[in-house]
Amino acid sequence: MSHEKITCLFCQSKNDKTLKNCANCGMALAENHPEGKARWSFFQKAFWGIVIFCLVMMYYLPR
Ligand SMILES: [Zn+2]
Repeated sequence: MSHEKITCLFCQSKNDKTLKNCANCGMALAENHPEGKARWSFFQKAFWGIVIFCLVMMYYLPR
């Protein structure tokens, strides 16, 4: 946990994970927003649901 780094989306510099803003350009670092994280996990679930659905359909539908 202590040595994880976040790459700034704007200037590509490495920042400590404890920082809220980039040390180089001052822009907000994306991974520090819990709301965004919850939203991302929702999209991940939806994405995997679609992937699994497609795989099932590939096996069940005759070509
Ligand atoms: Zn930056």
